Amino acid sequence: MNLVLLGAPGAGKGTQAKRIEENFHVLQLSTGDMLRAEVRSGSPRGQQADALMKAGRLVPDEMIVGMIDRRLDRDDCRGGFILDGFPRTLAQASALDEMLAKKGLKLDTVLSIDVDDEAMVERISGRLTCANCGEGYHDSFKRPKIEGICDVCGASRFVRRADDNAETVRARLKEYHAQTEPIIAYYDKGGLVRRIDGMRSIDQVTAQVTSALKECVRAG
Ligand code: AMP
Repeated sequence: MNLVLLGAPGAGKGTQAKRIEENFHVLQLSTGDMLRAEVRSGSPRGQQADALMKAGRLVPDEMIVGMIDRRLDRDDCRGGFILDGFPRTLAQASALDEMLAKKGLKLDTVLSIDVDDEAMVERISGRLTCANCGEGYHDSFKRPKIEGICDVCGASRFVRRADDNAETVRARLKEYHAQTEPIIAYYDKGGLVRRIDGMRSIDQVTAQVTSALKECVRAG
């Protein structure tokens, strides 16, 4: 199964993508994670992306499209993939259609996780991740069971993303509405979109996602 996960920053795409990965054995491809790895490596591409990401702006389409095109050719994508954070512009969506057609692949569904903007500023500003295994936590909504210790791997160092502050979140939300939201109508024309209410609890959102994907599998 090949799918696209759409939703504003903070909608829970990363969290749900990890759960889909476990439940449906498809690979999560997060362009945000790929770019953060480039920034950490100090590559020219990372240096170009860094300032734009810190300002909450999108990086150029050509950079992202090339990255995904190369990534989809790797063997671990054969069993299916979840695109998390891509496409984010109409140009990226049409580039994706072209590259999938060339590779003999297609999208099975597009999940749109719908949320309210103001709640997202609070959600994102409290996010943190285990520096060792990447498990996600939140100051108010999901604290580790033992304070300061990761539930999954026991590590005690947590990190926050440089772009997870209120000012940058507002810029990211603006980019989302201007550039990314039109993609929902683009995929709606092909009847691919399934809407998910992202304002519920994490587990309730997972339940909706799971039933949407089971329906997609049944529809074949
Ligand atoms: P994310 O982790 O998906 O929230 O992405 C973090 C940041 O990476 C975004 O605010 C953008 O600056 C950049 N980014 C990630 N994916 C894309 C994309 N498909 N197109 C352009 N910029 C992207």
